[in-house]
Amino acid sequence: MENEVVSRNFIEQEIDKDLAEGVYDHVCTRFPPEPNGYLHIGHAKSILLNYGLSQKYHGTFHMRFDDTNPTKEKMEFVDSIKEDILWLGADWKEHLYFASDYFDTMYECALKLIRKGKAYVCDLSAEQIREYRGTLTEPGKESPYRDRTVEENLELFQAMRDGKYQDGEKVLRAKIDMASPNINMRDPVIYRVARMTHHNTGDKWCIYPMYDFAHPIEDAVEGITHSICTLEFEDHRPLYDWVVRECEFENRPRQIEFAKLYLTNVVTGKRYIKKLVEDGIVDGWDDPRLVSIAALRRRGFTPESIKMFVEMCGVSKAQSSVDYAMLEYCIREDLKLKKPRMMAILDPVKLVIDNYPEGQVEYLDVPNNLENEELGTRKVPFGRELYIEREDFMEVPPKKYFRLFPDNEVRLMSAYFVKCVSFEKDGAGNVTTIHCTYDPETKSGSGFTGRKVKGTIHWVYAPTAQKAEVRLYENLVDEEKGVYNKEDGSLNLNPNSLTVLKDCYVEPGFGGAKAYDSFQFVRNGYFCIDAKDSRPEALVFNRIVSLKSSFKLPK
Ligand code: ATP
Ligand code: MG
Repeated sequence: MENEVVSRNFIEQEIDKDLAEGVYDHVCTRFPPEPNGYLHIGHAKSILLNYGLSQKYHGTFHMRFDDTNPTKEKMEFVDSIKEDILWLGADWKEHLYFASDYFDTMYECALKLIRKGKAYVCDLSAEQIREYRGTLTEPGKESPYRDRTVEENLELFQAMRDGKYQDGEKVLRAKIDMASPNINMRDPVIYRVARMTHHNTGDKWCIYPMYDFAHPIEDAVEGITHSICTLEFEDHRPLYDWVVRECEFENRPRQIEFAKLYLTNVVTGKRYIKKLVEDGIVDGWDDPRLVSIAALRRRGFTPESIKMFVEMCGVSKAQSSVDYAMLEYCIREDLKLKKPRMMAILDPVKLVIDNYPEGQVEYLDVPNNLENEELGTRKVPFGRELYIEREDFMEVPPKKYFRLFPDNEVRLMSAYFVKCVSFEKDGAGNVTTIHCTYDPETKSGSGFTGRKVKGTIHWVYAPTAQKAEVRLYENLVDEEKGVYNKEDGSLNLNPNSLTVLKDCYVEPGFGGAKAYDSFQFVRNGYFCIDAKDSRPEALVFNRIVSLKSSFKLPK
């Protein structure tokens, strides 16, 4: 690592310093989600950051469920979180922990604080505690229960544990400083009575530790060195340090904060996603329009693309929003050379080559990826009847339209030149069939140089084409109006966020395609097999991203 010349982010610089000064002799990081929802792209940043640091410094990475709050947590989320983290490539190996396994230690720590005169049982109601706390400009007021003796506190805390009190009747508070300029230090509540069943410890406890007390203990118990969290915890750091110090842990983890990742025009808040799911506006937590990790996976994003994105975002202390287009840039970059470029017609119209022998089929060699020869070629059937995109034909073309129109000649990709000789319409004026003639001399790869055409269009051979459903996506929220409605805080939904095309045709090369497999459909974008709804005989594709973008790489 000594010779590395790449620039270090501010967290790495701090870690370098800690190692150089001998504060720590190794690095141990963790990702501590609360199992109360699905992980999203913001969590991916935290996971990859923490895991990445453990890799870079040859340290250890812990996966810990922060399940100290029995009200909101569900086992369903534990499983989805594990799946998502492994998919991202972060491997905790044997280091899987549950914060609720430390309830005994936390209880012991509380007793220690009481014995040291650093914690007391308080009878004030939640509302009174809030009143006594003071404001940013005024100091707080001491609780009348602050000077209880150690014996009395031990007795009362035991009684709390024994279930002698109702929820909210008594709490245990740290005895710090009611005049502290930092409100978090004004005798924060560290234990509360809550007669609730916990998914892991059952009914063993009717008192539960508060986050600010539990979290530093969890980190210290596990030997975490660098406890990396988001900026909203910056003001809690003095309390974090206080807990670690007063509980006399030998290992003293260090909290370092960074700015949360926000994306423009997407919904990340769990509360909002939950409502979208419950109101049936989206098809579950993994609806491809969401940015939960499960949704990104279903949409066709890859772990590599998310890694690239997170790295491009960098780590900083400054709050900002990243353009969703940057995430799209990353998936395009990742798939560009890896994926075969197939032909699929999303809005089909029939094309008949009048002078091509009826019943004849030839198998053309089509390169899988012109930018990456290693992907080889495939055989694609070609014959008299094809489908092309409706928009690739115009009866009356505007200027600079180089695709098909009467008397114009174009190249059928990897096949022949065809010239439009006539077309048919139905009663409503829609074009139903386009008639062309082809020139056998112009076969792709034959070295033909006789003349040039300006347009190349793609096609599929009608008799062997497979019908498929294709889903196109736009932002779930209306870009113009902004994500949240200013008046009532509701979401400004985009009514066109999902377009389902039922009558698409793909070439017959998708036989072995499995859930999540992705492809480029030439000229139409990158698509992936939908994991929920696609069947081998009824394929469903999600558009991951279109091919073009106005996005410019930041310098
Ligand atoms: P949300 O508010 O979206 O529900 P959370 O912070 O409540 O998220 P936790 O399960 O408590 O979710 O978070 C686990 C870890 O992920 C924490 O360390 C948290 O700081 C980090 N994290 C959450 N959201 C983001 C984000 N947008 N960017 C970076 N890290 C995040
Ligand atoms: Mg949370």
